[in-house]
Amino acid sequence: MKRLVEGIELDLDGLQILPGLINAHDHLEFALFPRLGQRHYANATEWARDIYHPDQSPVREHLQIPKSLRLQWGGLRNLACGVTTVCHHNPYEAVFDDDFPVRVVKSYGWAHSLAFEANIRDRFDATPPGAPFLIHAGEGTDEDAAAEIFKLDELGVLDERTVLIHAVGFRSDGWKLTRKIGAGVVWCPRSNLFTLGRTLSQDVIASGIPMALGTDSPLTAEGDLLDEIRAARELVGEYSFDAARILRLSPQPDDWIAAPEFGEPPELVVVGDRIRLIGPRLARALPTRICREFYPLKMETRLPVLVRWNVPRMLEEAAQHLGEDVRLARRRVCA
Ligand SMILES: [Zn+2]
Repeated sequence: MKRLVEGIELDLDGLQILPGLINAHDHLEFALFPRLGQRHYANATEWARDIYHPDQSPVREHLQIPKSLRLQWGGLRNLACGVTTVCHHNPYEAVFDDDFPVRVVKSYGWAHSLAFEANIRDRFDATPPGAPFLIHAGEGTDEDAAAEIFKLDELGVLDERTVLIHAVGFRSDGWKLTRKIGAGVVWCPRSNLFTLGRTLSQDVIASGIPMALGTDSPLTAEGDLLDEIRAARELVGEYSFDAARILRLSPQPDDWIAAPEFGEPPELVVVGDRIRLIGPRLARALPTRICREFYPLKMETRLPVLVRWNVPRMLEEAAQHLGEDVRLARRRVCA
């Protein structure tokens, strides 16, 4: 099958054309960090207190890397696995509008969590009309985590636009309320298993509550959305998620990928009708003037690909702070 992109005819025989993946939860600036945490915690606040030592290694060195560069690596982590849209849980940054590897959801309201945000109602009220309101909730296995859904309800910030990230600690009455309200949930199975030793049950996943899959950051989950898809399959079998509905995204027919099959790393990623990533075989069709814009991205356990970002320079800049062993969500990046 042949497809024309940027006026170039690409022979996609042997590949499936699929919509770009949507990563419903990430913190892009932590892409190069290692996983941090020593044990399973009762809730996310306990985890955060244990790992947040900005004056100590390794957090100190990572924070010395300019944030715009860290965000770019976060974009590449998503691009490499076929994500074309990512939902970043933090303020929207100017760098996302400026030649960023993937689309970043732009219209949203958000708060970190009940523990780390005092004015949740104000944040909810500031959400643009028709946009989702994103908040970490129920990220724990204790009573506090179970009670968060009711606290959010009391604050008046629960409706069908609310997107609850994690929700691991909710109990049957909490799930009943979530379903009644029509709120969405983002499931980050590998992050939950690492920090809490538990994640959502098969019953909850299949309960009809709108669900999306997210990676969370490499602070708690190594790898990328393909690793998350594999974990989800092992935990609950085949299940179709609906990130676009929960995040209220319009269809993006100009975003698509080509891969040997769903769940495999892509050989082509097109965002906004522009080639962002291409495998070496397909790249042979690129005219020299376009080929010059691409650089190799070589990651441990993945076949090398070409991307439109200057990876050797990004690697050099990161290595100034981290040394030669630069890892993108655990996978070593080679020059
Ligand atoms: Zn998060």
